[in-house]
Parts: sequence; structure tokens; C-alpha cells
Amino acid sequence: RPTAAPSTDLLSRRSRSYSPIQGHYYAEPPRIERGWREHLIDVDGRHYLDMVNNVTVLGHGHPAVARTAERQWRLLNTNSRFHYASVAELSERLLATLPDSFDTVLLVNSGTEAVDLALRLARAFSGRPDVACVAESYHGWSLAADAVSTSTSDNPRAAETRPPWVHVLDAPNAYRGVHRGDDAGTAYADDARERFDALRAAGTPIGTFIAEPRNGNAGGIAVPPGYLAAVTEAVRAGGGVTISDEVQVGYGRQGSVFWGFEDHGVVPDIVTVAKAMGNGHPLGAVITRSDIVAALADQGTVFSSSGGSTLSSRIGVTVLDVLRDEDLQGNALRTGGRLRDALVALAERHPLVGTVHGQGLYLGVELVRDHDTLEPATEETRLICDRMLDLGVIVQPTGDRGNVLKVKPPLCFSEASADVFVSTLDRALTELR
Ligand code: PMP
Repeated sequence: RPTAAPSTDLLSRRSRSYSPIQGHYYAEPPRIERGWREHLIDVDGRHYLDMVNNVTVLGHGHPAVARTAERQWRLLNTNSRFHYASVAELSERLLATLPDSFDTVLLVNSGTEAVDLALRLARAFSGRPDVACVAESYHGWSLAADAVSTSTSDNPRAAETRPPWVHVLDAPNAYRGVHRGDDAGTAYADDARERFDALRAAGTPIGTFIAEPRNGNAGGIAVPPGYLAAVTEAVRAGGGVTISDEVQVGYGRQGSVFWGFEDHGVVPDIVTVAKAMGNGHPLGAVITRSDIVAALADQGTVFSSSGGSTLSSRIGVTVLDVLRDEDLQGNALRTGGRLRDALVALAERHPLVGTVHGQGLYLGVELVRDHDTLEPATEETRLICDRMLDLGVIVQPTGDRGNVLKVKPPLCFSEASADVFVSTLDRALTELR
């Protein structure tokens, strides 16, 4: 084992030299040195179960990615203005996962860049600057991606600081939102339609609607049935386009579908994707139609020095190969389903668990003090996360109330690890009583 400088010393060096707004998990975080599959190992040799790494879909230290990276670095890495195979191969592979209306890929380095570029494309195509988004969402940190990010857990002043071209719709949450139960989707869509009509009457019609097909940031909360279909129809009828932000919930994580929008009977105009695409290597994409891209052409070309590079594209193809060869979407369906069932059973024994959101390997365990008032158990959620760290499980709170345990491990997650997670959560909940 390597000799490590004391963690606290490194932590204070970090806090002196590295921006505090790019914070770290936990007040006293373990110093992680290695990763393998869904496991992390710290400098003292302690093992942790990693429930947070939805970026590393194939698992930590995947040898296929390491081999590809090493080989491609030795051969060539250059920008996408050069002609090489991997950029076309990755674009074709991405298009093959989508309905036929999609015919064009743009490669970038992150989810933020993908969202920012998608917003530019949508604005150029619709000719309208106004954007509708939903509350409690996160889409990235650039000027435009941040403008449509509404989550108060990331920015406590999000609600009062959105620019005038951003219009925030209620979070379509059928568990604790303004509309609940079976008809919630229709009710939220009716509200959205009313809002669009009012904006049109005011001379600021919506050009873009951006949303996740499952509200990831809020804790994997389902967008209620009917909502996306009705909103998509209303946006298009008014001359606008829709962006499905799949950065967090797409790429097979939900098990039953590769893309989240597939669950909603809609085909968006633009898809944004990142995180999983590179298994941690910076890689993102906007996938759309050539008529939409053509609308941006009179604003010049779009060039990213390393987006779609020889290396990034080759890694992107490798990730898709491994997802397919190891049937990781199938594993998300099977192991995620088993994990969800176990968490639902756990909820019956622990009244602090209000509900279990999500599907596949994107789950959210919502903790409440009272099943009628749904008072968020924010402090308890934090205590549980701290205790689970002691017990060797890395899991974090999410959502505007900080009361949802976000469960989004690598897609190679095993049944044994699911059992460890559930029994550790059981123990932490029991101790808290
Ligand atoms: N969109 C969504 C839905 C996200 O969850 C995130 C990141 N959490 C982003 C966009 C931004 O992605 P990135 O961190 O790669 O810039």
C-alpha cells in the first residue's frame, strides 16, 4: 500500500487552493485511490460501495476503456476537422439507437456543453429566444445551461434569479407536487398549455422546451404519464422544439429503455447526452435533425478542440460495445428491479421511507417524517448518508429538500452489492429510530 499524506492535510491544501464552489462529498471524505466495478478503495485499503457513479456506467477501471485509451493515445489523438474513422463510427452508432427522424450528431465534451449547444440550435431553428423548463431541474453550469437550471439544492436563489427569457413550469411530481395521483400528468400539462398561451399573448412565445424524461436531480422522480406527450404537442403547435436531456437518465440506465423519452410515446427534436457516453472520459453529444442544424449555419461553424477527437470518439465506441457485450441495460433492468423490490419491502418496515422512486438503476429513496404531510426528513437523510459512509457505502442526498437518497451506481452493479446496500440502509434506518 502506498504511504499517504494525512487526508486532513491534503483536504486543507485542497480548500486553500481549489475553488470552494466546486465542493466535495462529506465533511471528512475518505481519500479514494482505486476503483473496480462498483467498488471504491481508499488509501487505507477500506472498501466502499459506490452508489453515486452514474458516469462510470461500465464500472471503475474497466480494462476495455483503459486498453482503448492507451492504444489510441499512442496512435493518434487530434481534432474532428481531420478525417478518421471513429467520429463517423460513433455518430452512426448513436443514430442507430434513435428513431429515424434523427440524422445528425454533434460531439462535445460534457453535458453542459451539450445542453448549451442544444439551446442555441433550438433558438436558431425556432427563431424564438424564450425557453420553458421545469422546476427542481439541473442542466449544467454554462450561462445558458445554468439559466434553465432551477434546482434550489444547487442554487438556493434559483427561483428569483432566472433571466427573463426563462419560464419555469411546476415540477411534474405526482408524489408531492401541486397535482398528485393518476391524473397528475394531464393536470400539469394543462397548466403548461395555459402558460404557453399567456406567453404567446404577451408576445414572447416559447421556442424551446427542455426537460429530463425522468427528473434525475429531484431523485429519479417519474414524469407522470401523458405530460410529455401533451407538452410536446403544445410546444410544436406553437412553433417550438423540444429537448430531451438524457445526460443523467438515458443510455440504458432505466433498464426497460435505452432513452428515457421512449417511455413517454414522444420523439423529441433534440437529445442531449454525456456522462455515461465516455465512462468518465469527457464526452457528450447533441443528437438532432439536419434541418435544425442547418438553422445554426448562418451563425458560423461549431468547433470543439477535443469534442469528437480521435480518442474521445474511439472511447465512445468502446463504451457502446461494452454496454452491448455485457448486456448492462439488461443488468439495469434485472438488478435494478430486484433492488427496487427490496427497497419497497424495506419501506414497509421503516416509516421514514415515504416512497421509492425510479426504475432500473436510477432510483430515489424519499425520506419523510409523516406520510400525510410528507414533511421532508432532511436532517435524517444527511445522518443516514454519514452513517452509511462509516458502514462502507457511498450514497448522497438529492432534491430541493435534500431528503432523497439518490441510487445510481455503475450499471455492472451486482445482486450481491444490491443486498449489501439494502442491508446497510436497513441498519442505518434501524439505528436512527
Ligand atoms: N444535464 C443533466 C440532466 C445533468 O444531470 C447534468 C450533470 N449532473 C448535466 C446536464 C451537466 O452535465 P456535465 O456535468 O457533464 O456538464
